[in-house]
Amino acid sequence: MKITMLGTGYVGLTFGTCLSDLGNEVICADIDEEKITNLKKQIIPIYEPGLAELVKRNIDEGRLSFTTDLQLAIKTSEIIYIAVGTPVSGDGSANLQYVFSCAETIGKNLNGYKVIVVKSTVPVGTCNKIKEIIQNNTEQAFDIISNPEFLREGAAIKDFFNPDRTIIGYESEKSKKIMHKIYKAVERTDKPILYTDIKSAEMIKYASNAFLATKISFINEIANLCEKVGGNVKTVAKGMGLDDRIGPRFLQAGLGYGGSCFPKDVLALVALGRHNNYNMEILQSVHNVNQKQRFTVFPKLETFLPNVKDKTIAVWGLSFKPKTDDLREAPSISIIQDLIHLGAKIRAFDPVASSRARNIFPEIFYSKNPYEAVEGADALIIATEWNEFRELDKKKIKELMVQPNIIDGRNIYDPDEMSEHGFNYISIGRESIRKGENN
Ligand code: NAD
Repeated sequence: MKITMLGTGYVGLTFGTCLSDLGNEVICADIDEEKITNLKKQIIPIYEPGLAELVKRNIDEGRLSFTTDLQLAIKTSEIIYIAVGTPVSGDGSANLQYVFSCAETIGKNLNGYKVIVVKSTVPVGTCNKIKEIIQNNTEQAFDIISNPEFLREGAAIKDFFNPDRTIIGYESEKSKKIMHKIYKAVERTDKPILYTDIKSAEMIKYASNAFLATKISFINEIANLCEKVGGNVKTVAKGMGLDDRIGPRFLQAGLGYGGSCFPKDVLALVALGRHNNYNMEILQSVHNVNQKQRFTVFPKLETFLPNVKDKTIAVWGLSFKPKTDDLREAPSISIIQDLIHLGAKIRAFDPVASSRARNIFPEIFYSKNPYEAVEGADALIIATEWNEFRELDKKKIKELMVQPNIIDGRNIYDPDEMSEHGFNYISIGRESIRKGENN
């Protein structure tokens, strides 16, 4: 099938590329000229495992192309996906200007029946507004589909080919059949396609993200209480997760969630409630807990270093989670901002996100590896749980540091082992502080 993606960001690029790999002819269109020029040269703007190879293969085999000519891309295709950003507005609601701008462009360029698939995360009722905008600009027939995206950055390609579920909100049988034709290749009997009405589909996306965010803030509250009353949050989470009704996932205590989805989607759902005279009390608290969680690093740091002015602090992990270079709403950003404000010198390391971070913090030192980051450091903060950090040479780390202080914001190490190695070690929701055995 001939498909156009409007928006070639994390979602549009990975999803469009995967659709082309299924044999469809896909045009990825974007208003960002630099991005498209680079993509034409096979320079991939994001880090996503396996994506570069997939883009190359599908360009080489003639199924995938890139353009800034939105009008032509719309006219050429039978199916138009909208995959532009829906960032947070000042009042927490989703900013829909990019989505509505796409709707207008689609309306002005419809040259026959097409299916418009809304992949961007949008509040309930948005697909209806998109429909209205298109209708106001064309006499042509079209159908709207709500097909929210659930890919996880860092595992996006795997998620495309092995989705937990596919949600399709539809109005007409004709458009449902077309969607089925696209997705039957990735449908599995145990993980089906759920066909539903458009508003339910829109809500499923928000409710899913908000629920996962709730699990994270919940376990972080339990972790914070464990620090006061005792108990090990890792064991608590394990014990809870053994209950089938709860499950073990999204119960890792840490510095809170970040990224381009959970923070903004939780806020957008709170705002949607507010605009409809309903107070989303749970989700407002989920957000509040998360906002505070990243800053729990500071009282911990203070137990080692009462004043961080002119101290050297190493930070491992900049991206909001492992296996991505996405820094949007990453806890590391707020932490580094405050450390700089307090006069600390920062030595940062991230396996893939340093070049993006340079745009935000040009003044800090970026190391080539985790060892270089801790050279001369008075403390190390672990902000993201990259696997690369788990099996490092602890003896070497201790020798390189001026003071062996570690704040493990993601609970990747064992407190006993760290103490045996001579580190002063604090993590999240385990023990308030563990002094190094030789200190
Ligand atoms: P992004 O910011 O990475 O990409 C958006 C792209 O849209 C940009 O390249 C931008 O230049 C382009 N764009 C803006 N206006 C345009 C227009 N009028 N025409 C064509 N292109 C235009 O965003 P993203 O992370 O890919 O997210 C896209 C949507 O998918 C959002 O609603 C997001 O909530 C949702 N989503 C994202 C993820 C994720 O992990 N990133 C997962 C699921 C859902």
